[in-house]
Amino acid sequence: MDIEVTPSNFIEDIIVEDLKSGRYPYVYTRFPPEPNGYLHVGHSKSLCINFGIKEKFRGRCNLRFDDTNPTKEDVEYVESIKEDIRWLGFEWDKELYASDYFDRTYELAEKLIEKGVAYVCDLSAEEIRLTRGTLNEPGKESPYRNRSVEENLTLFREMKAGKYADGSKVLRAKIDMASPNINMRDPVLYRIVRARHHRTGDKWCIYPMYDFAHPIGDALDGITHSICTLEFEDHRPLYDWVTEQCGFVMPPRQIEFARLNIKNTIMSKRYLKKLVEDGTVTGWNDPRMPTISGMRERGYPPAAIKEFCARVGVAKANSEVDPSLMEFCVREELNRTADRAMVTEQPLKLVIDNMADDEECEFSVVNNPNSETSGTHTVILRKEIYIDASDFSLNPPPKYKRLVEGGLIRLKGAYILRHTATKLREDGSVEEIHCEYIEHSESGGINASMKVKGTVQWVSVKDAVDVTLNKYESLLVDAKDGVTDFNERINPHSLTVVRGAKAEPFVFAAGKGATFQFMRMAYYKYAGEGVFYRIVELKDSFNK
Ligand code: ATP
Ligand code: MG
Repeated sequence: MDIEVTPSNFIEDIIVEDLKSGRYPYVYTRFPPEPNGYLHVGHSKSLCINFGIKEKFRGRCNLRFDDTNPTKEDVEYVESIKEDIRWLGFEWDKELYASDYFDRTYELAEKLIEKGVAYVCDLSAEEIRLTRGTLNEPGKESPYRNRSVEENLTLFREMKAGKYADGSKVLRAKIDMASPNINMRDPVLYRIVRARHHRTGDKWCIYPMYDFAHPIGDALDGITHSICTLEFEDHRPLYDWVTEQCGFVMPPRQIEFARLNIKNTIMSKRYLKKLVEDGTVTGWNDPRMPTISGMRERGYPPAAIKEFCARVGVAKANSEVDPSLMEFCVREELNRTADRAMVTEQPLKLVIDNMADDEECEFSVVNNPNSETSGTHTVILRKEIYIDASDFSLNPPPKYKRLVEGGLIRLKGAYILRHTATKLREDGSVEEIHCEYIEHSESGGINASMKVKGTVQWVSVKDAVDVTLNKYESLLVDAKDGVTDFNERINPHSLTVVRGAKAEPFVFAAGKGATFQFMRMAYYKYAGEGVFYRIVELKDSFNK
């Protein structure tokens, strides 16, 4: 193959070698999710690896649903998985289902019986487990191990025909009960389960095990590199055994990499499903969920997720990544792409005494100083505005860089103000403040260089729109004092809702889904109906 690529990880090293040696004439990968839940951030790593290889080696990559466990799977999950992959920007070559191969898989099982390397076993699941041996002790051979080919074929066909009860018989590979690898001690290939399958309905009452269906699916599709996570390393000899015994001429190569683990982040569909079912979150796409749909709902850009996966890299040893790395990537991306807007979270009324009641001063502000194409929009300064209550103090702490009594402050994009008076409520709290603006202090004006304490965001009272801010925190708190169970680590403060914040109307201009940097606050996404989701904070709060 004449493709010149520079491999960027050990998987790509292997692929380059395989192309050079001629083991494979092309590169073909697949992403094989089980449709038993929504995809999570861990899957995005696997997607980036498999589709990244497709792009880099100009190969192909399939989406193959590993739907061999009918009791846990559902079409809802199939649809969500496709939506999530497309949203990340990946395109699969073929959409396939392991269940489409049930006929071929069955034929191959018969072939193994005929070759004398598979047999029907009447031991119960429990008995099989008890006779499997341990790491130090070999297993015990099943009393059914030496059935004749004819008897095995008859029994297997009867299993398929529904003659036997669930769990009463299985088909096992006849390999080696003394193998140091427990997976090679006559593993189960087929089991009897009377369950309706979401695609094949009631056609089958026997279903292949993952370890049998998976290599067959890969081989039938012409996959060259079957990339999976490290826990399958011990299954590789079985994977190779299956493709060899089935007689595939160009068997795929299985390569394992370390799963993505992120601190305080749940990465198991089973457990994420529990959070949905018990109402801890509002759904699979709750903005706090580490699912792809949750990250999309939250406002994470797909490019940030891909950049995160690239920075994490591909390793052969498990490790834990800090969530601040994802936040960093999201912030970097939004800094380039999100428009700036002014919002006051706790509005404090400020009256500019030297402006007339109906006076309007228009200022043009750049939507995003980091993007030349972002354009500008207009903000209107009027006599009555809001600033944030935290930007004024009667008793300023040391180094306070905001407005104080008699002090100067710049309104972002507009004039400098000088504080003149404070109106207090009966309880002593600040009701409103009064200022006067400094003439010609707008940017470029003759008074623009007056020394101010800082610059604050503001919104005119007349133009302001009410918004609700959903501020999200981590769903889990740190594991401490041996409390590692997720159930006991749910953060009770993972969502804080702030109502009555005041925003400039620009925040609604682009409609639902638009992302913003609310200046001096955080990045937010417009979720509709006046509600904004906090995507990520402006500064890294991670303490290194
Ligand atoms: P879960 O335990 O969440 O159900 P899984 O591994 O069973 O995860 P699958 O649907 O079987 O989920 O996974 C599809 C692909 O995604 C597999 O190739 C799997 O190895 C990969 N994958 C799943 N979780 C991670 C992870 N945390 N990091 C990297 N790859 C992952
Ligand atoms: Mg799984």
